[in-house]
Formats: sequence, structure tokens, C-alpha cells
Amino acid sequence: MRPYILAETNWEALKDEKFDLAILPWGATEAHNYHLPYATDNYQADHMTAESARVAWEKGGKPIVLPTLPFGVNTGQSDVYLDINLNPSTQLAILTDIVEVLNRQGIYKLLIFNGHGGNNFKPLVRELGYKFPKMFISFCFFPGVLDKDLYFDEKGDHADEMETSLMLHLRPDLVLPREKWGDGASKKYKIKSFSEGWAWAEREWSKISEDTGVGNPHKSTKEKGERFFNDVTRKMGHFIYELCQADTEDLYE
Ligand SMILES: [Zn+2]
Repeated sequence: MRPYILAETNWEALKDEKFDLAILPWGATEAHNYHLPYATDNYQADHMTAESARVAWEKGGKPIVLPTLPFGVNTGQSDVYLDINLNPSTQLAILTDIVEVLNRQGIYKLLIFNGHGGNNFKPLVRELGYKFPKMFISFCFFPGVLDKDLYFDEKGDHADEMETSLMLHLRPDLVLPREKWGDGASKKYKIKSFSEGWAWAEREWSKISEDTGVGNPHKSTKEKGERFFNDVTRKMGHFIYELCQADTEDLYE
């Protein structure tokens, strides 16, 4: 029983406990190339938040990891079988209820750990910060924690070398054999402005990728996944510790 994982702990441990920070992992349920499980984002979020919280706990921080929310925004994959979409407005409703609990109970810091590229928490965090002025709400997205190019050879953003390597490290029992892996080839918009990053429109996933992957997984290894996982969680652990200790009335220098 890890005391910083809400799903594992109990009332005996919690009735006189006080946490500084709640961590909410948020994933998705969606196809990940041919070879990775639909809950890939959730497994990654589970393992990363648990290990980062352990690092922070051992430094003396008091975080509590809430259960992972398993559905994310998948509006661009409406025709991909059993990709489960949660609309952004539904995410806001869920988040509002969770923040209300924390606010009433005096846990005034929340970190949302985002494990899925389709989730976009910035507007939600702005709105909730405005409605709950005592709360300090932040979020992070793990692929940006470190420079992926220092860990992986192939670029990608879905079921790619990073995700396949992570799953080979975390849940090798759920990764299909190498000969089943698709190459994650994807199409780009003909309108170049979208590729330059300053203009945006949602991609229709089934039209840009045959195997649902974006990014070639073939150079993935469990060693790469382990190295990235350890470095990300060490850095995140320090961040979580800092958040736990932070005086939210005195954040700037
Ligand atoms: Zn993913």
C-alpha cells in the first residue's frame, strides 16, 4: 500500500492526514497503431504519476495521486472503432466537481498530469482558477518534460518510438510482437500553414494514418523506454516536491 496513491490507501490512514497537492492523471482510450493497447496513455500516466509522487514523497513532499481518468478528447477519431471521446465541455464538468471537493476540503493545489495529446487543459484551468480563487491549478504534458530527440531516433506523436519503448518497459505483456507493428506513416495537410504550427485544424485521424500510429516505432527498445521513464519521473518528482512546498501567495521572483 503506497500512502500517496488514493486508490490504494484507506480511511484508517487518511482520517487524520493532510496532503499539500492532489495529482490527477488524465489519459485516453484509443487505438495505438496495431501493437499497443487502447489504454496505453492510461498505463503511462499511472506509472509516471506513481513513480514521480514516490520521488516527491521521499524528499518530504505530501502529494496524493487520484485515480486516472481513462477517457480523453478524441473528437478527431469518431470513426476509429471504440475510441471513446469525452468532449472538452464534459472534461470541464468533471474537473469542476473534483476541484470543488478539493477546495471544500482545503487541498488547494492540483496538478493535472496529461497523458494524451488531444486533451487541452489550458482554457479549463483558466476558467477554474477564475471560479476557485483559492485553488492553484496547473498541468503538465509528459512528452515535453525532456528533449525527446536525446532519447529516441524517430520523431512522432502517437504510438511512436517513445510510446512503444515506454510500453516495452512498463507493460511488455501487452505489446504485440515486432512483426505486427505498423510503420506509423502519416500524411500532412496540403496547406503548409498547418504544418508550420501557427495555424491549426483538427486532423481526421483515419485519413492521415492507416495503422492509427503517427511516428515509426521500429527502433523502440525497452532500454530506451526505461531511461526516458526514469529521467522524466526524477524531474517530475522534483517538480511535484517543489509544488508541495510552494507558498502560493509568494510564487514570483
Ligand atoms: Zn498515446
